[in-house]
Amino acid sequence: MLSVHVFYDDILSRIAEPPLWFDEHAVPRYADFSPEQAAKISAQEVVLLLIRCQACRRDFRVALSSSEAKPVLAPKIEARTLRFGDPPNVRCCSTGPTMNSISVQVLEYWFKPQIHGRLGPEVGFEAWAAQREFARDPKFERVFSAR
Ligand SMILES: [Zn+2]
Repeated sequence: MLSVHVFYDDILSRIAEPPLWFDEHAVPRYADFSPEQAAKISAQEVVLLLIRCQACRRDFRVALSSSEAKPVLAPKIEARTLRFGDPPNVRCCSTGPTMNSISVQVLEYWFKPQIHGRLGPEVGFEAWAAQREFARDPKFERVFSAR
């Protein structure tokens, strides 16, 4: 799957500091990462993934998200098949932006607990609404590839 990302020169050239991370569309982001900052507003799972350019070995922190009602990213982490695809295009090197990136490490895994089916509306509205906040689960934060 070839999916070279846009080179966001209009953003990158106007902000002097380097991006802290890139969202699901490989857009450079300058606020501290949090799952609420993901591009997909309906996200039920959000991962902050450390990836590496195959060609020049540059590292990037990128977000992946899913808005499915069941876990989608967690099983991919378990199966070691979680991929971002081509790295964000910052023109790190001549060929890297056109090559699949290497998944190095799941830095943060966040989910909305209802997708794991823990609580239903029978627990009362307050408890049910409270679990709609993102929760972090370090169980899925792991290293895929040696640094
Ligand atoms: Zn590169």
